[in-house]
This record gives sequence, C-alpha cells and structure tokens, in this order.
Amino acid sequence: MLDTNMLCPNCSSHDVYEIEIIPTADLINYYKDNGMDVRYLFEKREVLHKLRCGECSLVFFSPVVLGDDFFYSCLQKGDWYYQDEKPEYDYVASLIKPTDKVLDVGSGRGAFSKKIKCDFYQGLEFSESAVKLAEKDGINVIPEMVQDHAQKRSEYYDVVSSFQVLEHVSDARGFLEGSVKCLRRGGILTVAVPNCESFLEWRKNYLNMPPHHQLHWNEKALRKIAQVHGLKIKQVYKEPVSEIHRESFYSILLQTMRDKLAGVKEDRINFAPQIARDSEESLSEWREKRDFAHRVADVLKKGFRLIRLHRLFVGHTITAVYEKR
Ligand SMILES: [Zn+2]
Repeated sequence: MLDTNMLCPNCSSHDVYEIEIIPTADLINYYKDNGMDVRYLFEKREVLHKLRCGECSLVFFSPVVLGDDFFYSCLQKGDWYYQDEKPEYDYVASLIKPTDKVLDVGSGRGAFSKKIKCDFYQGLEFSESAVKLAEKDGINVIPEMVQDHAQKRSEYYDVVSSFQVLEHVSDARGFLEGSVKCLRRGGILTVAVPNCESFLEWRKNYLNMPPHHQLHWNEKALRKIAQVHGLKIKQVYKEPVSEIHRESFYSILLQTMRDKLAGVKEDRINFAPQIARDSEESLSEWREKRDFAHRVADVLKKGFRLIRLHRLFVGHTITAVYEKR
C-alpha cells in the first residue's frame, strides 16, 4: 500500500502523485539476468511506487530500497562504475581557485582531486574499497556522512561538490542541509546528477531505479533546491552529449527508433524478465532480437556519427551551481 502521508524528499511538498507501479520481481529478475542476486534487498516488497512531486517535479520511489555495501561491491566489478574522467569534473574544476578548501561528497576514490589545484581537499565516501584506493594514491578521503561532517567543519569550505551522488540518496533534503552547513558564506555548492530530461528517459533502465538510483532530477527540481535551502542559483549547466556517453546515446536512440518502427512495446523488449516468466524460449527470442538490434545499431551509428546527430541533443549530466548567502 502506498503511504498517503508521503512527502517530497527534495521540497517536502505533500503534492505527490503516483506515475507507475513497478513489480519488484522485474527488477530482481533483471539483476539476475546480469549475474546479481538482489532479492534480499527487497525483502517481502512486491511493488515499488514511482512518484512525482507536483511542486518541484522530482521523481522518487516508495518504499525506499537502498543498495548496501555488498550490492555496490558487485556493481563496481564493472569498470564503468568509477570513471576517472567525467565531463562535469572539468566544468566544476573551472570554478575552483588555488586558495579554496574543497569538500567532495561521495568522492569515490578521489578522482576529482586530480583535476584541481586547491589549498585543501576532503573527500567523503562510504565504499571501503574506494577509500582504500584513495589512501594508496595519498588522497584525503574518509568514510563519513556529510551531515556528521557538518558538525565538525561547519562553514569551513569554499566549495562543496557532489558528482553523480544525489540520485542515489533517499533523503535529499538532509544531504543538502549538511552540504550547505559545511560551506562558508559566499561559498559555492555544485550538484551534478543525471539529467532525466535527456536521452536517459527514452528507455526504461533498471539501473535508474532502486536499489541503485533513488531520485530522478531535472532542471526544475534542481532550481527548487535554491529556494528550499536559501541559496542563490548561479548557473545550471546542461552538458552536450559527451564523448564517453556517445556510445550509449546512439544505442538508446537506435533501440528507441527500432521499437517505434516495429511497434514493439518498450517494456516487453527491454524487460527480459517479463518474457522469462512466460517461457525460456521467448527469453532466447528476446536475446536474439537484442543482438540483432545491436548489429543494426552498429551500422546506423556510423551514419549518424558522420552527420554528428548527437549535437542536437542534451547530454547525460546536468550541473547546478549555487552560492550560499
Ligand atoms: Zn518536491
């Protein structure tokens, strides 16, 4: 049952409505298809409610199902997880001065610190393996919540950044309160998240749901942060489709086109588990279709690349920059 006292985790509005019901069996089976068992995280929950805030348009899920250390240690086996090169690093790095004290919340192994020259760098990160990697590189990263860090280093930093973190957090308001508390007056807060008004939304993606992603952000929801936390918004930067996302951009574009042309319901083709429940035979049919689509996509991609079609679209990440008054 959906909790009727639900509040938006960004702006605390009661104006919240349901946009989709997701059977947890689909998510569990999808991870299973990718070699991961996530049943234990869902316990006995049969569905997730996907909700939207009428006030700030943030999308979130109920009940909250978070990934734990084991879940992330399995995901991190894919080397895509901690990318050392992110286009948003360069954008935020351009805002940092050599005299600045920088707090990087959810820093991973501290890859951003290698992009900047600053007086002091502090990373906060929960992944034990990432903290160990940072230590090996001599980068200052500790396992601490930003809310706790704010108790020790209130109004201390010139810049507080987070890269691809706020979509994983269920309590956005608490996370941002902690981040803002760490900033001195006139300091800069930067928040970089996947832009859910980009090509990411064209297809259903199991990684864009719990236990991995908890919140779907867009420009309106990011602008609301300024109002909720008394900040001045300095800039909202929507990156173009970057080199590292070009591959997935073209794949998503071509799969979406193919499904539209073939009149295939996207849920059916993308969510193998739904078919797997029917029969093993239709699962192999699905895999054949998927592999065929990849081959066609490879050919079309070359053509689209030649005309640089991706330049017409907004990229993966949106970054908002705020000033503490
Ligand atoms: Zn809201």
